[in-house]
Amino acid sequence: MNVLECKNLVKVYGKVVAVKNVSLGIGRGETKVIFGPSGSGKSTLLRCLGLLEKPTSGNIYFNNVDVYATKQDLNKLRAKIGFVFQEPSLFRHLTALRNVMLGLKHVLGYSEEESRSKAMEALRLVKMEDWANYYPAQLSGGQQQRVGIARAIAMDPEIILFDEPTAALDVELKWEVISVMKDLADRGITMLIATHELRFAKEVADEMIFMDQGEIIEIGDAEQFFTSPTTERARRFMAKLLG
Ligand code: ADP
Ligand code: MG
Repeated sequence: MNVLECKNLVKVYGKVVAVKNVSLGIGRGETKVIFGPSGSGKSTLLRCLGLLEKPTSGNIYFNNVDVYATKQDLNKLRAKIGFVFQEPSLFRHLTALRNVMLGLKHVLGYSEEESRSKAMEALRLVKMEDWANYYPAQLSGGQQQRVGIARAIAMDPEIILFDEPTAALDVELKWEVISVMKDLADRGITMLIATHELRFAKEVADEMIFMDQGEIIEIGDAEQFFTSPTTERARRFMAKLLG
């Protein structure tokens, strides 16, 4: 069963068709990777799937229920869909722990004590428990991003969407975030990840999705993309990425 799915999703901004007729499903426990050139519509697609933006047309299904057609409570659903952005945008005046506790207390309504214990558990998962009482400014970009992942995972979402989570990080800080995402994949967390880290994708992706100009051009396993992409566009993009 698909946790999250879209059918014929279209998103238009003025004259720009950011996403053109995309259909895609992510089954429970699956990890899928989206990649493609800048401006190909990856972020827009993720924001629509995360219910952060309403599609211009098309359908989005959460656990097989058509979200917009059945007028679901969007805030309730959003709490079940984790989102990790390129920049974690933590609250600067709150410690790592407090940042992770925020949604637990104010969205899910857990007590102070329960929130703290769930937040600590999430920080342990991303190997940040020793940094719980540090403020964002005292943490490296990679550590901040791991707190961002902890904030998402603490809410016990049914799926986590990642939008180029390592793109803003120096090479030497990328690995720690990638290693955390690998752990999550191994634990069977359902994930849809936009990333250009192809070697990481090769290890975790059940399926890779190549987008260009708002459309899915090719879907396949990593092996296919690394050895013999079927479309010319994917072939050219792979060649560029792999240098
Ligand atoms: P990607 O994440 O693959 O780089 P985006 O989804 O960010 O692609 O962008 C796809 C297209 O939609 C681009 O042409 C971009 O300029 C446009 N776009 C994205 N978000 C907006 C927005 N909020 N307003 C206007 N145009 C947007
Ligand atoms: Mg983007």
